[in-house]
Amino acid sequence: MSTPFETALTLQDLQHNIGRIQARIDAACERAGRSPQTVRLLPVSKTVDEARLRLAYAAGCRALGENKVQEAHAKWQAMSDLSDLRWCLIGHLQTNKARQVAQFASEFHALDNLRVAEELDRRLQALGRGLDVLVQVNTSGEASKFGLEPAQALDFMRQLPAFSALRVRGLMTLALHSDDEPRVRSCFAMLRGLREQLREAAPQGAEIAELSMGMSGDFEWAIEEGASVVRIGQAIFGARATPDSQYWPAPG
Ligand SMILES: *Cc1c(COP(=O)(O)O)cnc(C)c1O
Repeated sequence: MSTPFETALTLQDLQHNIGRIQARIDAACERAGRSPQTVRLLPVSKTVDEARLRLAYAAGCRALGENKVQEAHAKWQAMSDLSDLRWCLIGHLQTNKARQVAQFASEFHALDNLRVAEELDRRLQALGRGLDVLVQVNTSGEASKFGLEPAQALDFMRQLPAFSALRVRGLMTLALHSDDEPRVRSCFAMLRGLREQLREAAPQGAEIAELSMGMSGDFEWAIEEGASVVRIGQAIFGARATPDSQYWPAPG
């Protein structure tokens, strides 16, 4: 959070940044007694233009995380020649955008309401597609964050098997945006604890393996607390000019 992130402009810059992040992931895994294979790096490419995304592809990225549907959809169309590049939606979704998401996304990390689940399922069924979904939980207690209250998660998960095109893979959270390590860690630990409860109690419990948590400023703590996917933007591509409030508006 205190580090300024330099803009990666060349293939070499991106290779360098990705290599450094991967080394930090490996080191965090080692500290936690985990295999590095249990943690996946999802580069987050919001605000990054097509030319730099093609460099990221050349640097080996085969999945990109995007926060907004319109931006993601446009990039998917522009880069459809890269047929093995997967698009992961990691931001809040409105029901009227479900149709677009069903077309192109391979993962959706921010499911937090049944109307969206229903609409996604309907659109996916029509296309004969499936979608890996993660349920977003608000672990920080901040009103500005999307996601279910932790106490609502079990009841929510119990209703998801009705939507057969949605493959429920796990949980996602955004921790408190802070340098206060114990408080940030407690968000991650809460998500892990919730997964253990759901594994025992939810119908699809066995498949709830993923914990999508950790970003540029806090991913090492997240890994030590059990993350299986870290979503990292700025530490790979450089600081964003757009303030994050653009991406995490107050739920309305
Ligand atoms: C932008 C974003 C990230 C990545 O944040 P960085 O600070 O760029 O690492 C992670 N998760 C979500 C939901 C985001 O919107």
